Amino acid sequence: MAAFAADGNGSDMHTQVGIVGAGPAGLMLSHLLARHGIDSVVLEARDRDYVEARVRAGVLEQGTVDLLDEIGSGERMHREGLVHEGIELRFDRTPHRIDFPALTGGRTIMLYGQQEVVKDLIAARLAAGGDVRFEVSDVRLDKIDSAEPVLSFRHDGRDIDLRCDFIAGCDGFHGVSREAIPRSELTEYHREYPFGWLGILAAVAPSADEVTYTYTDRGFALMSLRSPTLSRLYLQVDPNDDIANWPDRRIWDELHTRLAIDSDWSLTEGPILEKGITAMRSFVVEPMRCGRLFLAGDAAHIVPPTGAKGMNLAIADVAVLADAIAHWYDSGSETGLDEYSATALRRVWRAQHFSWWMTSMLHRFGDDDPYQRQLQLSQLRYTVASPAAAASLAENYVGLLKV
Ligand SMILES: Cc1cc2nc3c(=O)[nH]c(=O)nc-3n(C[C@H](O)[C@H](O)[C@H](O)COP(=O)(O)OP(=O)(O)OC[C@H]3O[C@@H](n4cnc5c(N)ncnc54)[C@H](O)[C@@H]3O)c2cc1C
Repeated sequence: MAAFAADGNGSDMHTQVGIVGAGPAGLMLSHLLARHGIDSVVLEARDRDYVEARVRAGVLEQGTVDLLDEIGSGERMHREGLVHEGIELRFDRTPHRIDFPALTGGRTIMLYGQQEVVKDLIAARLAAGGDVRFEVSDVRLDKIDSAEPVLSFRHDGRDIDLRCDFIAGCDGFHGVSREAIPRSELTEYHREYPFGWLGILAAVAPSADEVTYTYTDRGFALMSLRSPTLSRLYLQVDPNDDIANWPDRRIWDELHTRLAIDSDWSLTEGPILEKGITAMRSFVVEPMRCGRLFLAGDAAHIVPPTGAKGMNLAIADVAVLADAIAHWYDSGSETGLDEYSATALRRVWRAQHFSWWMTSMLHRFGDDDPYQRQLQLSQLRYTVASPAAAASLAENYVGLLKV
């Protein structure tokens, strides 16, 4: 195996895998490569505090939990994360439980914030002597079609050219990696939704034991949690709405109304620590490779958060990519690299469908269409009444073993 180390001092460096982005995909990839003795350098545009505080996803599939354990980064997750054995679907003011272990042969999910995963991955990587550089700017990808692609960037006042064997574009939807691929090489698939989610993080114990998805005439609402003292709640809103139109009182009033059920239950309020509105979209780019550049995570695909798949897909991509790269170093075989895009995209499209399906079942779509409302209610009733339908939701939610 070639063993090049980035010296970190000169303006011309070499590493085996240059990784753009220190989100879940980029950080996990650097860990998985290190397990195979493969060097990497991770380039991150933001500062460390920023990426460690960025509140996003929070549901980890069993496969993601297993991978964090395998690389030795699961200790705090098991101590502080919350294992959940189901979710609740609410409609017609009535709660219904989907029991994951009973429907999936014992599988569960873990609630542990993405920012905590990122903190753990950064700490472990730096402790192992990994090269993660924050606050880099002007990242540019060149020669991606050659055997030695180059990442140019500015860091600590110096312009650096990082020569690589491979580049992994893990820089999210708005990153530069996807843009480095000629448009003619890519096929893009899009779906925009006529709504967004207003999300809040509140310093209050969760009012429900499990993640609760609610369908109402006024739109969708979701109760989730990050810890025994931190709740995450969402409301379906107009994607162009201004958060200034939503003082805290209005948010809590709307949550009370949408989440209400006929049995004895109430929502507990607390101080709102963060709030914001996020538009919802589905997006896939194919293939996830051009020459020696491989895209992973949000750089290649976005799902609406309804299926809790975004971070899990990012981690699943790099698990496939790390094996393919390791196989190349071990054997010189291109097979894994050639199959990466198609292999990753099989899981991506399953998650795309599941996320679209959950989103379509649970949200109100603009015009008041009574026919669509009856279809949604029928689908919800079928999902909670039929073990086969409930099992389909459950196995997609906890993460499919085979796709
Ligand atoms: C507001 C929001 C809320 C979300 N909520 C949920 C949720 O509730 N459930 C769910 O499952 N998913 C959610 N997601 C999706 C989930 O967070 C993502 O799927 C996940 O972060 C993907 O990981 P990633 O590593 O591919 O990308 P990212 O986490 O986006 O990481 C990319 C990294 O690249 C860096 N970067 C970007 N450009 C450059 C550049 N030019 N140079 C260097 N670095 C660069 C970024 O700063 C970032 O750190 C949410 C996403 C957003 C944006």
